[in-house]
Amino acid sequence: MLNAENTIEQVVGWNVDKGERRGNMEDTVATMDFEFLDGDIARTVSIYAVADGMGGHKKGEVASRMAVQTVIEQLVKAFMGDVTGKDYEQIITSAVENANHTVYEQEGDMGTTLVMAVVIENKAYIANVGDSRAYLICDNGINQITQDQSFVQELLNIGAITPEQAENHPRKNILSQAIGAKEEVQVDMYTMNFAPGNYLMLCSDGLTNELDNDTIHKIVVDSGSPQVACDELVIAANDNGGRDNISVVLIEQKLTNSVEILH
Ligand code: CA
Repeated sequence: MLNAENTIEQVVGWNVDKGERRGNMEDTVATMDFEFLDGDIARTVSIYAVADGMGGHKKGEVASRMAVQTVIEQLVKAFMGDVTGKDYEQIITSAVENANHTVYEQEGDMGTTLVMAVVIENKAYIANVGDSRAYLICDNGINQITQDQSFVQELLNIGAITPEQAENHPRKNILSQAIGAKEEVQVDMYTMNFAPGNYLMLCSDGLTNELDNDTIHKIVVDSGSPQVACDELVIAANDNGGRDNISVVLIEQKLTNSVEILH
């Protein structure tokens, strides 16, 4: 007897690069997955994060690393506890708020962006603070999921500037929210279906300031694998100037057909 079962799993690639002009690396990238119990059912949760730190004297790298480390610790703790009937969005938001407190309590001015994807089977929970981004990519196109928490985005939202003016705005790097900037932080959450054949991409602005959407889309769908795509994205961003640290995580949702032979 044959028992064929379709399961979904993610294939992940990532790359972090200083870029061509910066002497220091202030971005942090992390990926991890583990199993947790939802009632009696074991499920896999995968966590992906990109943080882009800021602040002089190595504070940026401290902030981005601390934010990512704290948020992962908090999520592991929460999912290892009893999550039956709990709201995943709430769990993730609290974890990010905790990371904010941890960075905020450090001495000196430091802050960081944080964009993360928490994937549980066919659902993706995206949390964002700052102007790193999440994109959904499929064969037909590329869509930005997160909205930048930045001064320029606010100007765009009220129609004070055009998207073209936003591209090269002199105050593009001013964030309206950052991890560690204030005691409270506004975490944007986006919950979406993550269907087989689709890709989720997390990245810092070092990637998106150098490459337009069409270029990113073409590299991802032509690459053949998430890791090759990430490597090629970094090369392309450096070829276009590489003016900042470049971080990218690419997650492909895949349907795998596992066939079990039962006697
Ligand atoms: Ca940056």
